[in-house]
Amino acid sequence: MKVPDTEENLKKCICMDCPSYNECMKSGMEGLFCARGKTDCDLERRGCICTQCPVSRAYKLFGGYYCVIGTGWDEDFGKAVKALIGTAVIPLKVLGDIAGDWATSVGAAIPQPSKLASTIITARISTLKTITKAIEKEIELLEEHKKKLEAEEEKTKEKVKVE
Ligand code: SF4
Ligand code: SF4
Repeated sequence: MKVPDTEENLKKCICMDCPSYNECMKSGMEGLFCARGKTDCDLERRGCICTQCPVSRAYKLFGGYYCVIGTGWDEDFGKAVKALIGTAVIPLKVLGDIAGDWATSVGAAIPQPSKLASTIITARISTLKTITKAIEKEIELLEEHKKKLEAEEEKTKEKVKVE
């Protein structure tokens, strides 16, 4: 979800407490990278605490290190995962591989891959349950239709015998 660049969100940002937040960022009073994009400062990745941030929870962000990678990928990744989850024909294994490749390509940007995997699996279970219900309903309707057809066939045979 896109994070609005507001004073309220900036106040909630906890980047200043992060081990990767350095003097350069401090002197520029930088923060709220998930809304404002990456920093121009050179920095060493010493960990990211975005997942503990109320802004991350409020806007259902996937990852972190927004000071390094900017904002775009999180939204794109979220959309892609939702699209894949909604695609009934993609088996879970394939979905996992795609998500895995994606995660690898953004490197350390995803501090909690297990949380992401668990979200994907939960959503996938829900999708499969919906599909299962739809299949069961279709089987029920087809069986009813088959019975009607067989009954009509029997009637036609009896009619022919009488004639
Ligand atoms: S998610 Fe990260 S970048 Fe965004 S406000 Fe929180 S700590 Fe700052
Ligand atoms: S975006 Fe993440 S890594 Fe960067 S300063 Fe904020 S909490 Fe630290």
